[in-house]
Amino acid sequence: MYLYNSLSHKKELFVPNHPDEVKMYTCGPTVYHYAHIGNLRTYIMEDVLEKALCYTGYNVKRVMNITDVGHLASDADTGEDKMLKGARREHKTVMEIAKYYTDAFFSDCEKLNIKRPDVVEPATNCIDEYIHMVQTLLDKGKAYLAGGNVYFDTSTLDKYYVFNDHDEEDLAVGVREGVEEDANKRNKNDFVLWFTKSKFEDQALKWDSPWGVGYPGWHIECSCISMKHLGEDLDIHCGGIDNAFPHHTNEIAQSESYLGHKWCNYWFHVHHLNTDNGKMSKSKGEFLTVSLLEQKGYDPMAYRLFCLQSHYRRNLVFSWENLDNAVAAYDKLVAKIATLKQGGEIEQEAFDKLKERFVNALNGDLNTSVAVTALYDVLKAKCNDATKLALIADFDQVLSLNLLSAAEKLNQAKAEEEAANADPEIDALVAARTEAKKAKNFAEADRIRDELKARGIEIIDTPQGAKWRKV
Ligand code: AMP
Ligand code: ZN
Repeated sequence: MYLYNSLSHKKELFVPNHPDEVKMYTCGPTVYHYAHIGNLRTYIMEDVLEKALCYTGYNVKRVMNITDVGHLASDADTGEDKMLKGARREHKTVMEIAKYYTDAFFSDCEKLNIKRPDVVEPATNCIDEYIHMVQTLLDKGKAYLAGGNVYFDTSTLDKYYVFNDHDEEDLAVGVREGVEEDANKRNKNDFVLWFTKSKFEDQALKWDSPWGVGYPGWHIECSCISMKHLGEDLDIHCGGIDNAFPHHTNEIAQSESYLGHKWCNYWFHVHHLNTDNGKMSKSKGEFLTVSLLEQKGYDPMAYRLFCLQSHYRRNLVFSWENLDNAVAAYDKLVAKIATLKQGGEIEQEAFDKLKERFVNALNGDLNTSVAVTALYDVLKAKCNDATKLALIADFDQVLSLNLLSAAEKLNQAKAEEEAANADPEIDALVAARTEAKKAKNFAEADRIRDELKARGIEIIDTPQGAKWRKV
């Protein structure tokens, strides 16, 4: 599979360290609020990546953290802790907030067919690991104590901006979001590994450490949780594009300084879901959730299809009109699949040819929109229904759009509707009209048709015989 690697800025052949296992790490949600459908775009595309890797023959071990401490209002080290902010907003404890929104996150994931990672680790579970990494960085001279906090010293690095050659002025940590610069920092990009001198005396969660009672910075948690479960060599690290700087940049700085060697080979970044007003964001307060879509009558599968129809490295603009188009496309797909008949032999040659298009789409930097087109190609193909149904089931291992079960439900609903409308007397009259037509007794056939019409019944002649419906 070729994937775009943010680290090298080009598409590269994906080759894991160990041929049979892919070690994949995903930045999990900060659980101070519901995930919005932008966050979930990132998780949908990461889910497709994991499933595509499994589909093409790899075993994937995937780990995700749950950020329940340490993520401050700015992605750098300033502002209030987001968890504390959530707890204040809802007059609950931080742990209650974390539990509630973690459950809500996984419930949304389930609705969107996003597989739960093999390991899900809350950040508050790994304090010993953070302390160990921070102490090692101090011992190696890669970190320093200042004003009670422990900072990573970015001047010890050969290269700090690994993803982009950023304009340093634009990215100067501490001057973003109108917050004051931290005077303890030796270099403006230095970041906090461990806080003890929080500006917020009432920080809810604090732990003892060699540097005083405090709490970890946000970036350290992903390095430690990844290493705890996936070891020192990571194959692929995922996240939304906003995580590239400073979060992933800092993860790399501290992980490689700690390990003394390269840490992760591939970086997979999903671009944003935007609205007319720019990036959808939790901190803006107004955002769309899966529950809200459901309340408005949208099937979460239509949102999943909406995401799959565009490439993960392009910004995606959300509008109700765009979502309605995805709904129409989903309903049409399902209706078409519902007409396919079970049974018969699979035509292997056709199967292989059509599958190849799908596999090529995935292998070409996870081109999900072309993969969806490959699905349309199946429906248009000249092969038999058995082959089509087998291909749809096969593709849906990756697309996870519930295609076959939705088609089955549609057929069931139709059958139920027909059963509810069943009327043996009218069936008998329709049959009598068919007989009369066969016997060329057209006067009688017309009489029956008129009688039914007077009773509000319309006869529809189809290649499968005469049917009727109430008008
Ligand atoms: P958070 O819960 O804020 O830590 O974010 C969870 C994930 O969603 C991270 O991988 C973010 O990079 C990603 N993310 C945040 N905003 C958006 C957006 N508007 N579109 C897509 N992904 C996003
Ligand atoms: Zn992370």
